[in-house]
Amino acid sequence: MGAEMFDVAIVGLGPTGEVAAGLLGGHGLKVWVGDRLPDVYDKPRAIALDHEIMRVFQELNLVDAIEPFTEPFTNSEFFGVDGQLIKCMSTVAEPYPLAYTPSLVFSQPPVEEAMRAHVRSLPNVTVSLGQTVTAVTQDSAAATLTMVNEQGLSSQVQARYVIGCDGASSFVRGQMGLTLQDLGFDEPWLVVDVLVNEQGLKKLPKTSVQYCEPERPCTLVIGPKNHRRWEISINPGEDPQHLATPEGTWPLLARWLTPDDATLWRQASYRFHALVAQDWRQGRVFLAGDAAHQQPPFLGQGMCQGVRDAANLSWKLAAVLAGRAQDSLLDTYAQERKAHVSELTRRIKGIGQLVGERDVAKARERDAHLLAECGGVVLPMPRQNVQPALSEGCLVPGSAAAGTLFPQAWWQHGAHKQRMDTVLGTGWRVFLAAGADAGCEGALASVPASLKLKVIRLGTPEAPECDGVLAQWFTTHGCQAAWVRPDHYVFATAHSAAELSPQMQILRTFFS
Ligand SMILES: Cc1cc2nc3c(=O)[nH]c(=O)nc-3n(C[C@H](O)[C@H](O)[C@H](O)COP(=O)(O)OP(=O)(O)OC[C@H]3O[C@@H](n4cnc5c(N)ncnc54)[C@H](O)[C@@H]3O)c2cc1C
Repeated sequence: MGAEMFDVAIVGLGPTGEVAAGLLGGHGLKVWVGDRLPDVYDKPRAIALDHEIMRVFQELNLVDAIEPFTEPFTNSEFFGVDGQLIKCMSTVAEPYPLAYTPSLVFSQPPVEEAMRAHVRSLPNVTVSLGQTVTAVTQDSAAATLTMVNEQGLSSQVQARYVIGCDGASSFVRGQMGLTLQDLGFDEPWLVVDVLVNEQGLKKLPKTSVQYCEPERPCTLVIGPKNHRRWEISINPGEDPQHLATPEGTWPLLARWLTPDDATLWRQASYRFHALVAQDWRQGRVFLAGDAAHQQPPFLGQGMCQGVRDAANLSWKLAAVLAGRAQDSLLDTYAQERKAHVSELTRRIKGIGQLVGERDVAKARERDAHLLAECGGVVLPMPRQNVQPALSEGCLVPGSAAAGTLFPQAWWQHGAHKQRMDTVLGTGWRVFLAAGADAGCEGALASVPASLKLKVIRLGTPEAPECDGVLAQWFTTHGCQAAWVRPDHYVFATAHSAAELSPQMQILRTFFS
């Protein structure tokens, strides 16, 4: 009997694979997902996530399951050579643009458990754990995965498309001969997760901190509940393995805590890298998550980037597999995500270099420069400002706000408030400002039916927004209409009904 055929096979059930499987399964596709490990990794690695990721969890109907394991991310205060405040990263003010706290900390193991439970609940998704993928081949009809289970038995599955979500040392990437480009960051750091008791919590700062100290740059992140994380740079000549033992770690924490104050949860020494795959697609095979990129954790974006990949690729695969879109839409995945990841990594590297300056004179110059820039009064800068927009791909470059995330408002229904996506669903949408040209709806009538476009005019009963987020967005961008993709990124904006038709032609190049 031949190998079973799937629409999509996903290698690796970490956060990226979990989201990809959940989204593709939600589109009704027949999905196989496998991981060599039988269980979720029981220690936290990612600790921060963005509102954009909560919006993806919303699509997976996971917000109620995940929210209890999240807390708002405190401000991050940067202290210079002499202990003075030199910079502060905060969060955008309310009303929140995506209807979630914009930056959160979370506990990864229970969040991953919730994602896995969701994936397992989907009847059209086959979850295969304890299976190590040992070969990936493809021909004009399908891709074939060969795997070996824990008893050494070999089996195969076939799929129209494969996504390698198999982490930093990706086997799939190697099999496809895809290489990583070095964006120029490579430093040894120790990551320490600690569960702190009441007495210890009283001794610790109440905000997250970047200690920009040349003798040993380090980071403190206030995690959920009593979880605190230190990322501590390793000095030349130090033994990373010894530092990762309790005997090596406690002296590094002595400035803040003693063993009476806390329990060590996990210590691991890492090289913080900045790497991005040169190519993200080889025929039927795609890379996503850490398999496609790795970035230093200074802004807590590693997992977020993998979730963005999964969200970007899923709706495109669903459209192509349903015969509604051209294969060229799949090429926009790498185009969009590579440029975005590269730019964000460049910005994260900049933060890492600022925190990690080892030369005392240069560090003092940095402090003086930052303080001069703000006139001596450090103003909090929202972390969200660091996020770049998508710059190319399935969008209309040059159109205001194209490539940015369209906001999510709260809708008021009687006494109840609901998030907009919950009411409207995802898919392609055009939002019209309350005062948009009367001809806009007519101009949109010839959109291909396969797009299942929803048109929503603000100021009507079908758009009962109660916080003004959308109205303000249209004012800020000075436009009348916004095309919004299934992953909530803006495809294009229009200043008049007349602009909609040429934009539709661009969309038609991707959709049948
Ligand atoms: C110290 C540290 C701190 C971090 N902090 C943050 C943070 O604050 N915020 C953030 O967003 N991110 C953070 N990250 C990054 C984040 O943990 C990763 O980006 C994220 O886990 C990547 O998810 P992934 O699913 O792509 O890969 P992984 O989580 O690595 O999952 C890959 C999966 O593939 C499986 N696999 C591998 N090979 C095979 C094979 N041949 N066959 C079958 N299965 C296979 C593995 O078992 C694994 O389960 C941090 C990472 C580290 C190391």
